[in-house]
Amino acid sequence: MFVRVVPLGIVHEKVLDSVCLALRETFGAKCKHFTGVPLPEGSMNRWRKQHDAEFILDKIKDDPSVKFIDTAIPTLILTEEDLYYKAMNFIFGIEEPDRGICLISLKRLRPEFYDQKNNPIVLAERIEKEAIHSIGHYLGLKHCRYGWCVMYPSGSVNDIDKKKKQFCNNCELKLTMKGTKLV
Ligand SMILES: [Zn+2]
Ligand SMILES: [Zn+2]
Repeated sequence: MFVRVVPLGIVHEKVLDSVCLALRETFGAKCKHFTGVPLPEGSMNRWRKQHDAEFILDKIKDDPSVKFIDTAIPTLILTEEDLYYKAMNFIFGIEEPDRGICLISLKRLRPEFYDQKNNPIVLAERIEKEAIHSIGHYLGLKHCRYGWCVMYPSGSVNDIDKKKKQFCNNCELKLTMKGTKLV
């Protein structure tokens, strides 16, 4: 599997590298990160002070650097901006498997968001779990009921911190049946 990692706005190189490494270690994915694309104009909801993920996903398909190539090549878009989706207060990430696109926000993965000390290790762990979770959805997995499995739904950073970067046996078996072998 090949994964394209695309920063939306400015995202630190180290973050992109840690995502690529996690995807390689989990899926054996060949990962390449691309030059950033700007946030589409009009995505910001000034009242909510958040960006509309649905709007972004809709607009971004016109950007030549993100343009749909092949659903066999998932595109993981990362942004520092806070995202919401429809009636949800916020989202950590969202996937559109049909178009091979996943969008992840780093905003609420940062300890600083919760008035805690900046911690690059905690941040990297959270981003990596969210990236693996998103690719899991892309590969056809649904949420898992085991709190430690990477496919457990992430309602809060506590959920993310509690789970591992690994898939449980059930999820791994489902991936195998869908033709994905884990490293
Ligand atoms: Zn999910
Ligand atoms: Zn599972």
